[in-house]
Amino acid sequence: MSEGQGRHFLQIPGPSPVPERVLRAISRQVIDHRGPEFKRLGQEVLEGCRSIFKTSGPVVIYPSSGTGAWEAAIVNTLSPGDKVLMVETGHFATLWRRMAERWGLDVDFVPGDWRHGADPTVIEAKLAEDKQRAVRAVMVVHNETSTGVTSRIADIRKAMGRVNHPALLMVDTISSLGSIDYRHEEWEVDVTVSCSQKGLMLPPGLGFTAISEKAIAASKTNRMPRSYWDWGEMLKPNANGFFPYTPATNLLFGLREAIAILLEEGLEQVFARHQRLAAATRAAVRAWGLEILCQTPAEYSPVLTAVMMPAGHDADEFRKLVLSKYNMSLGAGLTKLAGRVFRIGHLGECNDLVLLAALAGVEMGLSAAGVPHRAGGVAAAMTELSGRQASVAANLKVAAG
Ligand code: PLP
Repeated sequence: MSEGQGRHFLQIPGPSPVPERVLRAISRQVIDHRGPEFKRLGQEVLEGCRSIFKTSGPVVIYPSSGTGAWEAAIVNTLSPGDKVLMVETGHFATLWRRMAERWGLDVDFVPGDWRHGADPTVIEAKLAEDKQRAVRAVMVVHNETSTGVTSRIADIRKAMGRVNHPALLMVDTISSLGSIDYRHEEWEVDVTVSCSQKGLMLPPGLGFTAISEKAIAASKTNRMPRSYWDWGEMLKPNANGFFPYTPATNLLFGLREAIAILLEEGLEQVFARHQRLAAATRAAVRAWGLEILCQTPAEYSPVLTAVMMPAGHDADEFRKLVLSKYNMSLGAGLTKLAGRVFRIGHLGECNDLVLLAALAGVEMGLSAAGVPHRAGGVAAAMTELSGRQASVAANLKVAAG
């Protein structure tokens, strides 16, 4: 048993494994990005993205990582000195805040313990206090990949509505899009930021911003300098399926295929599958007697589970051992959580047996590393998966009459 034998288990919360169909779609000759074949591809992916983000408005696609799309959201809508409200849900929210400050924004950063999501009541109270309506944007991470906590975006939008606050709502869906129910238009989100390498099951390299009419209006008057990220420059050629500069053509072939895969399964089924796999993972963690980092069941992430290491044991040493013995990559604890948690990704192209294999690797790794735990996590996950399957089958039978 060693790294390199058999297939690698990539169980980090993104980048996630790329399905064979997507790999094959990408693996082809490059085409002229100003020719008729590209025009069709561009139109198809720009249209297809709307169904994934659930919007009838534009989705801008950049050749970038998610961080680039974060920057696009800021520079297209805000001006230096603008006040924004952000919430410390974890490592990624903290990085987005740092970027906002580098762009000269005045960030009110609501402190958090990295075990809870953004609290709609706190956001409501903060906005109610803002009598001058100086806060220009509320910026939240939907699924905090560093902690396995999912914030309730629909509730946050409702909270903003209750105090009738005009701030833009910007949401990072980098690790939730295509895995967790998300509705850009229905939830009246102004800018949704995402990227390719998680729920969309593509390699890294595409960044996205879905944009509301209000965000487009803001982009016409804001005073932040930009060039590469400028929505105005993008939206003009996008109207005909083209891009203002060379797009990541082959990733767009992959994107077309990934959207088809998601829509064939059906987004609701994709979300339900993620919920099932996450519930089975939590059943395993509880059976081991270990603690889940997320403290609010309504905020458990369907994408990943962060597991706390018992005191006196180093999560990074454990991950190293799992990699060398079982050829599996688990997610590391980031910054504040370094060495204290490991993260199990269960997103994208993941099914019952892949998950059970991954959990078996964790359970064997816990034994091999001498981490105190109870056996039976995999068995608990199997019971959870079978039970949920049985209840889905029973529901279908009832529905069929
Ligand atoms: N936001 C979240 C929630 C993430 O999980 C990540 C990366 O994992 C990022 C932002 C940064 O994205 P990227 O690494 O693609 O720039």
